[in-house]
Amino acid sequence: MSAPRILIWYRNDLRLHDREAIHQALSEQAQLIPLYCFEPRKFRQTSFGFPKTGAFRAQFLLESIADLRNSWRSRGSDLLIRRGKPERVIPELVKQLEIDAVYYQAEVTSEELAVENALQRALSPLGVRLKSFWELTLYHIDGLPCDLHYLPEIFTQFRKQVESHCSVRPPFPTPEQLPPLPEIDGGEIPTLADLNLSKPVFDDRAVLRFVGGETAALDRLNEYIWQRDCLKDYKQTRNGMLGADYSSKFSPWLGFGCLSPRLIYQQIQEYERERVKNDSTYWLFFELLWRDYFRFIGAKHGNRIFQKSGLQGLEIPWKEDWEQFQLWQTGQTGIPLIDANMRELAATGFMSNRGRQNVASFLTKNLGINWQMGAEWFESQLIDYDVCSNWGNWNYVAGIGNDARGFRYFNILKQGRDYDPEGNYIKHWCPELKNVPASKIGEPWTLSPAAQEDFGVKLGVDYPYPMVDLMESVKENEKIYRSAFDG
Ligand SMILES: Cc1cc2nc3c(=O)[nH]c(=O)nc-3n(C[C@H](O)[C@H](O)[C@H](O)COP(=O)(O)OP(=O)(O)OC[C@H]3O[C@@H](n4cnc5c(N)ncnc54)[C@H](O)[C@@H]3O)c2cc1C
Repeated sequence: MSAPRILIWYRNDLRLHDREAIHQALSEQAQLIPLYCFEPRKFRQTSFGFPKTGAFRAQFLLESIADLRNSWRSRGSDLLIRRGKPERVIPELVKQLEIDAVYYQAEVTSEELAVENALQRALSPLGVRLKSFWELTLYHIDGLPCDLHYLPEIFTQFRKQVESHCSVRPPFPTPEQLPPLPEIDGGEIPTLADLNLSKPVFDDRAVLRFVGGETAALDRLNEYIWQRDCLKDYKQTRNGMLGADYSSKFSPWLGFGCLSPRLIYQQIQEYERERVKNDSTYWLFFELLWRDYFRFIGAKHGNRIFQKSGLQGLEIPWKEDWEQFQLWQTGQTGIPLIDANMRELAATGFMSNRGRQNVASFLTKNLGINWQMGAEWFESQLIDYDVCSNWGNWNYVAGIGNDARGFRYFNILKQGRDYDPEGNYIKHWCPELKNVPASKIGEPWTLSPAAQEDFGVKLGVDYPYPMVDLMESVKENEKIYRSAFDG
């Protein structure tokens, strides 16, 4: 009897290590047909008209696919590349190659589920087995302490439950050899131009040159944890904004599944055994739990994470003021900490967690602008976009998430003083303020005309006046929020 043929449909799981689907198919002695499908839907526009996948992320994806193909080739097989809707491409391949089963990584959000459903419908007349695998989180969905429906809404409760009742399963091994493909055209990896995108220019002010793929992911893991020995200080450095090592920068590779969180966990444990175990080593695990939490919340609540009223169903009359929104998008608000972060995002596709919290708070709590516009802009621009982490965090910061604790906002000036005390981050991205002393850099509007001249910056000419008064705008938006909250 000939070996069964199993198609491995790659999605956000672009690696060979810790892949249950691959492990399972190999244990069935199957011939594996790995496929990546460039879906036109991912390269359209968001509802507010931004490119759904911006150039930085698209480039990272192309690099990840090239690396994955190399890995399959170096093990005796190849990765098939196709362009088109999976629900059209996969049934064609199934017929052409007489495939018996399709294995894929399970997703939880509506657009991805719609594709799975369409694929199921298309495959059902062909009698092909379709099996999904839960492959993106630390904790397996089947190992949760309760049914998803009863999963706690509050992060701390979720964390306590999983920490005391669940264990992280060990990663699956990386296959050394893979069965050769049957005779078939492998297909070409498209270029950015094929996807209607231009090649992004690398800005050397970026925190890191992010290169897509499992190889670069494993290099970064090794570099951050072992070579540069950063893990032992993670808790103290993680709120930084400048440089490669204040945080792990694992997120782009996690986002495309080039890196498995279980492998990170395994490395943390090894580091704790071999070097040091402290608050910092725990804290990286703790942050990965946030990622798990948002994915499980996404799975539990489905489309609600995308809705304007959020998980809490709060009907806030958000503004859709495009003029103001564009000042935020382009880093021209006149609030240096916000501008520096928004310029970094536009120039590099990355922003620190501290920055994301501040700019999201400013958009929603100072400007009162529809948080969905911000979330879509992040979706478009972020190299590490992850549907559940992005929309879940936006729910949270906008105050409409399931654990919103009333109207909470970031005091932007204090945040600047606490996390950028010398103003180095602001100067990095707002060079027009480079001569302004640290005591004034967060609020240049307090400089007298003479001081402006001394420091070589003229407000309204070289750098904008603030678009809002930080305190007044918060008060106004708090009133709006409270009246929505009180019903
Ligand atoms: C408004 C907003 C939008 C965000 N959008 C995304 C997104 O699209 N994709 C994304 O991966 N993260 C998102 N985050 C979370 C967080 O900002 C990034 O994960 C983090 O900055 C990535 O850098 P790092 O890998 O160096 O993080 P580290 O500090 O080194 O953390 C390690 C890992 O833990 C996870 N993690 C850390 N913080 C969070 C968090 N708050 N929520 C979920 N996971 C977390 C990430 O996987 C991260 O790679 C968002 C946060 C906010 C406030």
